Amino acid sequence: MALEIKVLDYGDIELESSFLVLGHDCGRVKRVPVYGFLILGGSHPVLVDTGYRDNAIMESLGMRGLQFHENMIENQLAKHGLKPGDIRYICHTHLHIDHAGKDDKFPMNTTVVVNRREMECSVSGLMHPQYPMPDIQHLVERIHTPGALRFEDLELTGEIELIPGVTLEAANAHTEGSMNVHVQTAEGRATICGDVIYDINTQIVEPYRQTQDHEPQVTGNHAGSKRAEKAAIKKLLNSSDFLLMVHDKPAKVVDKQIAGRLDMQVPGPVVSSLPKRNWFPV
Ligand SMILES: [Zn+2]
Repeated sequence: MALEIKVLDYGDIELESSFLVLGHDCGRVKRVPVYGFLILGGSHPVLVDTGYRDNAIMESLGMRGLQFHENMIENQLAKHGLKPGDIRYICHTHLHIDHAGKDDKFPMNTTVVVNRREMECSVSGLMHPQYPMPDIQHLVERIHTPGALRFEDLELTGEIELIPGVTLEAANAHTEGSMNVHVQTAEGRATICGDVIYDINTQIVEPYRQTQDHEPQVTGNHAGSKRAEKAAIKKLLNSSDFLLMVHDKPAKVVDKQIAGRLDMQVPGPVVSSLPKRNWFPV
């Protein structure tokens, strides 16, 4: 049976635009979605990322959270007939504030899957306050609870299989321990790439202030090198048929270029699923 990916809408955030794309629209506020992804049709339901804890916690980064009742993770799962306890694995692309804020809503026999390097970074203080205390404390509790947390060492193992059709791979961008989740769908390989790309249009389709051929613009994030970030984006374009970002609409890749976008309202409710949907040319 082919795997399907459902996009979950965890609400929006407002932030300063150049945080997203380096040097772009400095000083202007931009509103972006925060998505999660539910992988169904496999041996177990898998959830990728859990959004931010609540609106108040986004203030610690000077950002505004816009999470409403329907965006609550329980309500987003219920749209697909699931409860938190039905989820077998939660994979985190990384552990930033807007990606791992709801793990304590899930029972300890839902296994949270994290690249160990990311956990190390989250407690190192280097990126404070992007890794907030309640989220990370909960993960430490999971470390001490049998079966509640699973570490991978993706830099050393290479790509590994989570369940048939779903593999995990070190992203080598955004944070030191970020990982990509690859899903084999009926229409090809879809990659949930977290925050390796923030903005498909401004970074890749019309890359801001780039003059060279096929040169993506980097994000405003500064955890790694610009070279590594560009290489990570090029690798995604070279190896996936669909790219699913957490803060932008999914994109379709043909011949290593962005060929279409998923038609869904941003911001607003998201009910679309892959691969059944309408793709619009860029
Ligand atoms: Zn994010």
